[in-house]
Amino acid sequence: MTKINTWDMHCHTIFSDGTHTPTQLIHEAKEQGLAGVALTDHDTWSGWEEAEVAAHAEQFLLIRGSEITAKQRNDDKKPTSVHLLAWLYNPQGKKLNDLFQRTRQNRLNRAITIVNKLSHYYPIDWESVTNEIKEGDSTTVGRPHIADALIKAGIYHTRTEAFKGALSKDGPFYIPVHSPTVEEVIEAIKDAQGVVAIAHGGSLERNTQLLTDTDIQRYAECGLDGLEVWHRENSIEQQERLLQLTKHLHLLATGGSDWHGPSGKLNQLGENTTSEDVVQEIIERGYLPVIQ
Ligand SMILES: [Zn+2]
Ligand SMILES: [Zn+2]
Repeated sequence: MTKINTWDMHCHTIFSDGTHTPTQLIHEAKEQGLAGVALTDHDTWSGWEEAEVAAHAEQFLLIRGSEITAKQRNDDKKPTSVHLLAWLYNPQGKKLNDLFQRTRQNRLNRAITIVNKLSHYYPIDWESVTNEIKEGDSTTVGRPHIADALIKAGIYHTRTEAFKGALSKDGPFYIPVHSPTVEEVIEAIKDAQGVVAIAHGGSLERNTQLLTDTDIQRYAECGLDGLEVWHRENSIEQQERLLQLTKHLHLLATGGSDWHGPSGKLNQLGENTTSEDVVQEIIERGYLPVIQ
């Protein structure tokens, strides 16, 4: 796979559940020979400042973004969890900031409740979880941090083990998180003049009930800009389906690694990328400039 002139548009750092800093992300992306990289931590833009400094220092192209969690209700069926990649939006956007604040508060309350339940059976408490948070208040607290505390306590070796064990979605300690609807997120990003794409929309690992073509068409009508076609969790068939949809609905087709750092997940930086012309279109549509 050639990486020349391509961008990795989906990367996480310690400002959400990644294991590396934005500075390390920029450095690695440059080493890999990528044309540029997008920082997309979960429900926050707090890593942007550090990334900006690193991009200047390394003279490397950076797109500032986030990955936002939403949910689609499906009548009598299970809801579909939908992640939206938002790039180059105005961080002063009021609707989006309100949404981030609500999400962080919801996640915090939920994490505290899960840890309370777990503490009756495992040697962890809230303090041991917050010890695993590397950037204090600006970090989105999540199940990965609870996993890290369980690892530290010697219960599991890896996050994957913890997610299959005590933190399993089917287990007794799971509490669903309240998420905004996809329409609410698209509206908030558009209000902030950002560019928005559905991340890993063909991932059967995450959802038994995928978004249908009709669902995606409805979101396109709400202002959705693109679909993340190239992602390791989208099967070849799903990649083909999503690619056809981008053509049919005039959406941008993007790719990203969903990197969480070398010790976070298997995902390799630059394993899936976005072409230069699509990135140019994203830059043209966005509110913020690209950083170098
Ligand atoms: Zn995601
Ligand atoms: Zn992600």
